[in-house]
Amino acid sequence: MNVQELLMKLYKENDLTLEELTFIIKNIKEDDQQLLFNLALKTKKVHFGDSVYMRGLIEFSNYCKQNCSYCGIRRENEKADRYRLSKEQILDCCHEGYRLGYRTFVMQGGEDAYFNDHRLTDIIKSIKEIYPDVAITLSVGERSEESYKKLHDAGVDRYLLRHETASKEIYESIHPGMRFENRRDCLNTLKKLGFQVGAGYMVGLPNQGPKELAMDLKYIKELQPHMVGIGPFIPNEDTPLGSYTGGTLNQTIIMVALTRLMLPNVLLPSTTALGTLDSFGREQALNAGANVVMPNLSPTDFREKYALYKNKICTGDEAAHCRGCIEGKINKIGFKVDMSRGDHSQFSTK
Ligand code: SAH
Repeated sequence: MNVQELLMKLYKENDLTLEELTFIIKNIKEDDQQLLFNLALKTKKVHFGDSVYMRGLIEFSNYCKQNCSYCGIRRENEKADRYRLSKEQILDCCHEGYRLGYRTFVMQGGEDAYFNDHRLTDIIKSIKEIYPDVAITLSVGERSEESYKKLHDAGVDRYLLRHETASKEIYESIHPGMRFENRRDCLNTLKKLGFQVGAGYMVGLPNQGPKELAMDLKYIKELQPHMVGIGPFIPNEDTPLGSYTGGTLNQTIIMVALTRLMLPNVLLPSTTALGTLDSFGREQALNAGANVVMPNLSPTDFREKYALYKNKICTGDEAAHCRGCIEGKINKIGFKVDMSRGDHSQFSTK
């Protein structure tokens, strides 16, 4: 079968073998790409229509005990200007977010020991007490099952933990001191505990070729996460991987579209990293199957410090400005924003 025949098969069956997926990623040409993006968009529309879910992102700490070789907030990056938001500052972000209409808050940070279970659950409970109708997504890395359970009990609805790459060799080469299996165990535990779970991966990592990217697709098919965050790897000069090339916009959009065809009703964000590579990057992803955007709610004085990579977009914009700006972009390409909680269909009766 050629690429187009394989794409049609994927569209109909929502799965292919590792070899077939590798073949597509290796051989896809411009004409095939148009077909792929159209099929992914069509699939997205069946499940979500023209809606794009909005999530308010709060980057609440850039302290991290991990040392991921690509990440600007890694432990050994002495150039990172560390900060953590107080409970009051986090609640202020939520207040502003709620006022702007957000009903999902995504709290992301490094693996910061200061935010132990006690402090985190206290913050979560306060947010839920004031805003019982919002969904809270947490993204603070690997923790124990006991800790995840306490967070779930405190009211955390969703958890984002990208698997980063499905290749054990690559994973362990860029995550010193971390174990590939542990990441997967965490994801399985989060699913078991009843979170809506987000996995995801970077595109353009060192030594990552078509086969490794196909492995990412097979892994998410097996895990069946509720969300998948995909972004290009953007080298950061203050990290050990600073001199690598990184991922391209096109390659990343192809992976977004293939992910949509593998998991037709998954929540698929059009990520900030895509917007950083190209001013039209996020729109392109929305036109190729993505259906979520995560505008920033963090206080502007701290935005620049949460520098996973450099030149991150929108670091100077107030939350209200981001909200309006992204809505304009979404409307311009013929979609509409949806400010509801936007749960995954398996959870939408909640
Ligand atoms: N500590 C949390 C959040 C990590 S930061 C956790 O472990 O899940 C969120 C995501 O940013 C990471 O999962 C990674 O995929 C991405 N990221 C980090 N550095 C990056 C870089 N240089 N380029 C692109 N994406 C990066």
